[in-house]
Amino acid sequence: MRYDVVIIGGGVTGCAIARELMRYRVRAVLIEKDCDVGCGTSKANSGIIHGSTHFVPGTLKWRLGWAGNQQWGRLSEELGFGFARIGDLTVAFGEDEVDQLREFQWRCERSGVPRGELWGPERVRAEEPNLSGAVVGALFCPTTGVVNPYEACFSLIESARRNGLELRVDNPVLGIRADENGLWVQTEHELINSRFVVNAAGLYADRVAEMAGAANFTITPRKGEEYLLDKRLQGIVSRIIYPCPSSTSKGVLVIPTFDGTVMVGPTAEEVDDREDLSTTATGAEHVFSKVGRLVPGISERDCIAEFAGLRAVSDTEDFVIGATTVPGFINAAGIQSPGLTAAPAIAEFVIGVLETEGLALEPNEEFLPGIEKPVQVAALTTRERQDLAATDPSFAQVVCRCELVTRGEVLDSIQRGARTLDGLKFRTRAGMGRCQGAFCSLRCMQLLSDSLGLPFAAITKRGEGSWLVIDREDLERRSGEPAP
Ligand SMILES: Cc1cc2nc3c(=O)[nH]c(=O)nc-3n(C[C@H](O)[C@H](O)[C@H](O)COP(=O)(O)OP(=O)(O)OC[C@H]3O[C@@H](n4cnc5c(N)ncnc54)[C@H](O)[C@@H]3O)c2cc1C
Repeated sequence: MRYDVVIIGGGVTGCAIARELMRYRVRAVLIEKDCDVGCGTSKANSGIIHGSTHFVPGTLKWRLGWAGNQQWGRLSEELGFGFARIGDLTVAFGEDEVDQLREFQWRCERSGVPRGELWGPERVRAEEPNLSGAVVGALFCPTTGVVNPYEACFSLIESARRNGLELRVDNPVLGIRADENGLWVQTEHELINSRFVVNAAGLYADRVAEMAGAANFTITPRKGEEYLLDKRLQGIVSRIIYPCPSSTSKGVLVIPTFDGTVMVGPTAEEVDDREDLSTTATGAEHVFSKVGRLVPGISERDCIAEFAGLRAVSDTEDFVIGATTVPGFINAAGIQSPGLTAAPAIAEFVIGVLETEGLALEPNEEFLPGIEKPVQVAALTTRERQDLAATDPSFAQVVCRCELVTRGEVLDSIQRGARTLDGLKFRTRAGMGRCQGAFCSLRCMQLLSDSLGLPFAAITKRGEGSWLVIDREDLERRSGEPAP
């Protein structure tokens, strides 16, 4: 089987490229090492579609970040994932910081992007009454949005698959070689021949480039810890709140997520381990001390969940996108922040590179931009819920009480590709609420087990090695002793 394009990595970069590629008559396959797409950095980030005032001109990050920003409204309409352009406020605590905000405005003006509005203290207080009284001004940027990043990955890949993409999960790429017949990608399960390979392997992109003999950059993981707060804080701010950034970091933010939870973070710390997703006491102290200065009503006691993500930082600190010395091997690497924002523009950019390198782009006349949007019972009115339950009673059977997720939604998400507890959680929100799955986990596992025809003990949290329960007989067989 010969492919035109193999995409390695099913994060937002790979998923966006895959979907864009399906606009053309191209035979393509996406290879992902984990059990689902969107499980790497694309799941563990701040979910912000950064606006015009937060880009540093002259970099690929800036060019593709701003171009990507403007595509999210259309994408969310076509694909139905959660996105809202809520705007952001960068706040100043003194006249020197107000000068910094003016500088941002000039920078935007010079780069031809919207410059944002400078607000005085009264306007800030009227619009965001829970901000610290010490704030003396703020720059309002209406082009910033929030997105459910995992939902975006799931719907991009669903759309790509409906339009002809092949997807292989649980299939790490182990080696790549080139010969006169093109590129050969050796995965754990198969050997794939392709004319082009797009390297969108996130934290492992330098290793994948090395496999192909195209190593000319390195990736350093930069960890960011994020803290999710109780939904009772919903509405404490209505826009994303940034402090004035330093030269190395955007600082710790207050983020009203699309689903109504408030999130605070992230930290920024270089680490050696590409799998280190631990949160730390030091990280929490840092985040809550910084956030307390912005919004004094937020405290560490409000935290209901925490996670960390790793930015894939290249040695140039910019995206590494383009052809390499190995014919047909193309990098979409070093995609650190604002990689989520930029993803739709990165996809177009990579298609351009493929065309320049000789891929014929004949339009796929049958390309369907939309997918059937999943039902979200929690977002419906009472009347809509009653009508839906009358046609399908499974939409009246509540599985997750905190987030009001029904059996019908869980079954639909299994049909769309959820295979694990996390796959369900990130598609439906079951398990994301105050009790963090204490009520619904067993119910979700049972539905997975029944629908997939798998033994209960085979259901995992997020794939291989993350089993939740052990079969008693299996345990006894392995230990040679009676189970307690
Ligand atoms: C804390 C934090 C906050 C952030 N906040 C924002 C934000 O608010 N806005 C924004 O725009 N950006 C943000 N970012 C950046 C953004 O999350 C990333 O730029 C983006 O998710 C990168 O996507 P990706 O697809 O390139 O990488 P990933 O999502 O990591 O995907 C790479 C995929 O490749 C797979 N893979 C790796 N090796 C192999 C292999 N050998 N074989 C097969 N598959 C392989 C991985 O399993 C993974 O699924 C943030 C990042 C962090 C860490």
